[in-house]
Amino acid sequence: MAFDYDLFVIGGGSGGVRAARVAAATGAKVALAEEYRMGGTCVIRGCVPKKLMVYASGYPDIFDDAREYGWDVSHNGFDWGHFRTRLHSELDRLEEVYRDLLNGSEVEIFDGRATLDDPHTVRINDKTVTAKHILVATGGHPVRPDMPNADLGIVSNDIFLMEKMPKSVLIIGGGYIACEFACILHGLGVEVTQYYRGAQILRGFDDEARGLLADAMTQRGINLHVGTNIVEMAPAGEDHGGPTPTDSDAAMGASAKHAQDIASNPKSDTDKKAKGPIWVKSTNGNEQVFDHVLFATGRAPNTDGIGLTEAGVEIGRRGEIVVDDYSQTSVPSIYAIGDVTNRVQLTPVAIREGMAFVETVFKGNPTKPDHDLIPSAVFTQPELGTIGLTEEEARDQEPIEVYCTSFRPMQQAFAGKSGRVLMKLIVSKESRKVLGCHIVADHAGEMIQLAGIAVKMGATKEDFDRTVAVHPTMAEELVTMKEPMRTA
Ligand code: FAD
Repeated sequence: MAFDYDLFVIGGGSGGVRAARVAAATGAKVALAEEYRMGGTCVIRGCVPKKLMVYASGYPDIFDDAREYGWDVSHNGFDWGHFRTRLHSELDRLEEVYRDLLNGSEVEIFDGRATLDDPHTVRINDKTVTAKHILVATGGHPVRPDMPNADLGIVSNDIFLMEKMPKSVLIIGGGYIACEFACILHGLGVEVTQYYRGAQILRGFDDEARGLLADAMTQRGINLHVGTNIVEMAPAGEDHGGPTPTDSDAAMGASAKHAQDIASNPKSDTDKKAKGPIWVKSTNGNEQVFDHVLFATGRAPNTDGIGLTEAGVEIGRRGEIVVDDYSQTSVPSIYAIGDVTNRVQLTPVAIREGMAFVETVFKGNPTKPDHDLIPSAVFTQPELGTIGLTEEEARDQEPIEVYCTSFRPMQQAFAGKSGRVLMKLIVSKESRKVLGCHIVADHAGEMIQLAGIAVKMGATKEDFDRTVAVHPTMAEELVTMKEPMRTA
């Protein structure tokens, strides 16, 4: 049977764009549909705008430190309107870059929502096309908890569109997105309260690292409450005695082009109800009013209403597309990559999965994406960089030595700051391999990328020790820790 395309990609995010381009480079006839903005979560409402906000939020520390280093510095505060305009023009530019890359690769772009009619047929608006292979790369979306008035809260997508900076925000959640936004908003001058229902933030990360980070966040002035959750929320001033809504009602109104984008996007999470201030009651009995409540309580795969089940694609318990090691679904012509498969929800992983798919299907070289030893970072202040096993995971697996040190870094000690960093290696007693590396420090994201190469190569503790230190740096501690702090 002749098909219109060799490959039809649904979703123009990190994974979909890369797979489409690389497949087209093999000579395949490729089309891609995107229902919102090219670039997907990472570029439009994830990694990129978040990291730019991380940079913006770091300046109060820089100004403070500069004074201690002898600079005569003064400033007049943060201008969100100026920053937001610059932010969105940068996102517009990046979106165009993605479009140009696809056009340059001769990938045909369909601007619209794609759904499946059958295992080889895709419908975009009123048009149907056929493809030999279909790649679903539709990503995920933030979810609010199932409670009355949850739509009064905002989600991560909405942060980048705020008309003005709120005075106070309650963040619900303890994952990396919750913690990153707690630090970002705090750095931008917002009074931040964070509730997490578990015993400690950043579940799944090394206990010692998450403990140090929680202390650092608290010391910076983030009002962090673990073991605490929200039980009730309502517009302030209704019948809870809170203040009547003020001009911060306008705080969620999106601006210009982006307001239109959001309004016309059927998947927008920005709800007209999401206006502050909001009265909140929590499990610790506390009642308080916040300008915004930000739900960072998890994400769900975008699998609804695309015709997946009807086409015979198996969907898992969390709404994810079930795939095999080669990203193939239960329907042989349909593959899926990225967040929609709920494997490891990171941009470089979605990209790797896309490239492995192309190797397998278009280059005759069956390739499994490698999900082992993935370095990652939490862009809090300080950052947390991590690769491999946590101390807790490793000691359940085999006898280990733990090398770690915590100290005040030179730059901050000079500026009179009390913040500490952590450098930690988990070492197998038997093989001597470094099983895990965890760093809490400014720029830990940059450091773990490099340490990650050694760990991925299977470096031993002795390989680390043989490496001459770069002095004076924080990371030199990774190659100078002589005695284990403990064994397990
Ligand atoms: P996406 O990038 O989500 O792309 C999916 C695309 O499909 C979207 O553009 C969507 O509009 C489109 N789509 C959906 N359904 C349809 C349809 N039926 N028809 C047409 N188009 C459709 N990862 C990192 O590695 N580092 C970070 O620092 C980081 N920070 C993040 C911060 C935040 C706030 C968030 C939310 C995520 C962050 N991530 C980060 C995760 C990262 O953004 C995702 O893992 C990555 O974008 C997943 O790529 P994807 O291709 O699977 O999906």
